[in-house]
Amino acid sequence: MTSIWGKIFKRKNQENSIVTNDVIAAVKEEPLLSSENKRLQFADIVVYQTAHPENELFTRAAEDLYQTVDEDVRKHIKRITVGVFGEDGRCAPSIVNNKLEINISISQSMKGSRIIGNYNDFTRNYFIETLAHELVHAQSMSNIVTSYGIQEFELIKTDIIAKIGFFGFEEYLACKVVAQKYDSFELIGRQRSIDSIIKSPVGNLGLDKNWSFDLINEMFYEIATRAAFVNVSTEQAKLIETDNQKYIDFITKIRDLLRQFESKTPLNKDQYFFLGNTLITEHYLATTNFDSSVIENKINNLF
Ligand SMILES: [Zn+2]
Repeated sequence: MTSIWGKIFKRKNQENSIVTNDVIAAVKEEPLLSSENKRLQFADIVVYQTAHPENELFTRAAEDLYQTVDEDVRKHIKRITVGVFGEDGRCAPSIVNNKLEINISISQSMKGSRIIGNYNDFTRNYFIETLAHELVHAQSMSNIVTSYGIQEFELIKTDIIAKIGFFGFEEYLACKVVAQKYDSFELIGRQRSIDSIIKSPVGNLGLDKNWSFDLINEMFYEIATRAAFVNVSTEQAKLIETDNQKYIDFITKIRDLLRQFESKTPLNKDQYFFLGNTLITEHYLATTNFDSSVIENKINNLF
């Protein structure tokens, strides 16, 4: 059984990947180590696919960051694997025995260069920022489960529109936190225009449900990342520049909405649904001349 969750919480890479829940489910429950022995506790969950004397340096560099994460969140994090992955970072949740388990992956090569055997300021910062991004996702998932229960988390996972809202909003949040904390605005495809991003699903929705989901999701992911950067620094305004007034209105609405919901976290399934539904509706309004009842029908048929 594959999960789309792992595929979505990627960071800065076009490539998709999948997570096998069966493999994750096979990992045995282990008791938490004592909090006095923090060093051991962190080093114990980090696994490197490639053995190298420098691995220790990365572990040590990231340890302080990990210790800033709430105990409540940390207890859900099963493994942090550093290895060969299709994306820089990934945060994959699974539900095992009615409990949330999170597996984080970090790529051992970043921006096409190896980090293993190449420890310096750049690779260290990149490692820490990628981990920080994934830890924001882990924190959100944990908060949902703590506030609303594991069933709510399942509902978000199974409702396609709520899921679109979830992925987009969470990407916004993670990008914003990392941009604020590290003054980092890393973006693959930075040169891509916002017009091309908004146009990308047009004409292709409705042919296949999974494909429609992927198209909308990819678009919202791109918009959310850019909205996060622009909301942190006006110097990033170029990322959403367009001459098309309908697109300007669309982006403004989405940015405002994301900002509003930030103060309401943790969000529940209905709020994620609202975000997803508003995004799709506003996208139709920006790219077609359909009226709202036609749009509502389209969405009902689409998802
Ligand atoms: Zn992410």
